[in-house]
Amino acid sequence: MAAAHVLVFPFPLQGHINCMLHFATALVGAGVHVTFLHTEHNLRRLGGRASASAPAGSSPRIRFLSIPDGLPDDHRRSVADLFELFKSLAAEAIGPFRALLAPSPTTGSPAADVSVDPTSGFPPVTCLVADGLLPWALDAAEELGVPAVAFRTVSACSFLAYLSVPKLFELGELPFPAGGAGLDEPVRGVPGMESLLRRRDLPSLCRRPNETDDVGPAQQALAKLSADSGKARALILNTAASLEQSALAHVAPRMGDLFAVGPLNAMSSPAPASSLWSEDDGCIAWLDGQADRSVVYVSFGSLAVITRDQFTEFLYGLVAAGYPFLWVLRPDMVEAGQDAALREAVGGAGGSSKAHVVAWAPQRDVLRHRAVGCFLTHAGWNSTLEAAVEGVPTVCWPFSADQQINSRFVGAVWKTGLDMKDVCDRAVVEKTVREAMESAEIRRSAQALAQQVRRDVAAGGSSATEFDRLVKFIKKLST
Ligand code: UDP
Repeated sequence: MAAAHVLVFPFPLQGHINCMLHFATALVGAGVHVTFLHTEHNLRRLGGRASASAPAGSSPRIRFLSIPDGLPDDHRRSVADLFELFKSLAAEAIGPFRALLAPSPTTGSPAADVSVDPTSGFPPVTCLVADGLLPWALDAAEELGVPAVAFRTVSACSFLAYLSVPKLFELGELPFPAGGAGLDEPVRGVPGMESLLRRRDLPSLCRRPNETDDVGPAQQALAKLSADSGKARALILNTAASLEQSALAHVAPRMGDLFAVGPLNAMSSPAPASSLWSEDDGCIAWLDGQADRSVVYVSFGSLAVITRDQFTEFLYGLVAAGYPFLWVLRPDMVEAGQDAALREAVGGAGGSSKAHVVAWAPQRDVLRHRAVGCFLTHAGWNSTLEAAVEGVPTVCWPFSADQQINSRFVGAVWKTGLDMKDVCDRAVVEKTVREAMESAEIRRSAQALAQQVRRDVAAGGSSATEFDRLVKFIKKLST
């Protein structure tokens, strides 16, 4: 049997990289060779951290390569320009990607190993695991004789919501306007969630900002992108049956095969380094000086951008709640904000010992720190899972994409936090943060969920068993 060598290719955004690097590390732990494919831009940002992230003792089985994303280096690659990144990757990265996998003229076998690094000792690539947001990579691999498996880094519930878009149109539940009381209307077209979802809980793309906007084509395109994962040999999701059993059951019949192997952040160890920003470890020393469960950790992930008014409401709400807080303020996070002025505002309002600001935190270390009492988050799927694994209650203020539905699950299904979506008001921030910090019930639910998901990824648990099945599946594809 040929040694399995998987090319793992995430969409080049922080949340996708983190999740798929955990996956790659777990594969390496299972004896599989992995080439992890970055874009050149991101590999430059990672610098030495990329290769330093190979798990200790097993580094000979993982390596990091890159291809261009086709955008100029000074391009912002921000949330507002994501479509450009999509287009540019599909148009410009496809050539180098094919070259990486193209059969070697001498051996006739896929030759990522020989064409790039003849001394690596890596066997030829036998399988591609690519982000479902890169359908062209999945198609190209199959064309070149390399079996392709899709990986989506979102929750199963949001994936199912995307799959359900055509049905929502059919039922007349889409489109609807972005604002107003209508957002509380129930939505019945997502199977298994008929009595759970309101319009406001659907992925943000389902909202129509203006009466005249036609977002239908974009919604249908996203639905198609999700349905197209069904053309791959299988779909991998970073979730667990205990978290999203019903959604998984509805997704499975539409995919070649389905593997729920999460939360991957609890599975792979040691944690690989993958931050595109440089982590400010000083916040851990600051946390060391705080009492147990006394701190509110605030982070809205790698992409969200808030207005200056929203920043002010959060700031005053946090100060009024009265707990010390650690706030991740990326330099590009507040519209028209000046980094120094914002930091000063937080320091001034919070008092120097009560507030600590960093541009980027070692989030998983923060969440497992004894001083953290709750997490004010945008409910990105990675952040949601990282909080779940550590049993930290959350206050969710979803910004976009799948975050709206993730936060509904946090507040109404798992009951491990509170959903503050669509409201940004200092009094509500104060009240919600206090409740998340003080509610014994929420803390109990968060801790029970943490125990459950840790069981899921431990030997014999549902995700660990699915992961073993996946490794066998990949090894079979590699023969
Ligand atoms: N993250 C981090 N430090 C920070 C903020 C975020 O390491 O200061 C990591 C976080 O742990 C998570 C990822 O960035 O793994 C963000 O992914 P998520 O899906 O939560 O949100 P996105 O950035 O995709 O909106």
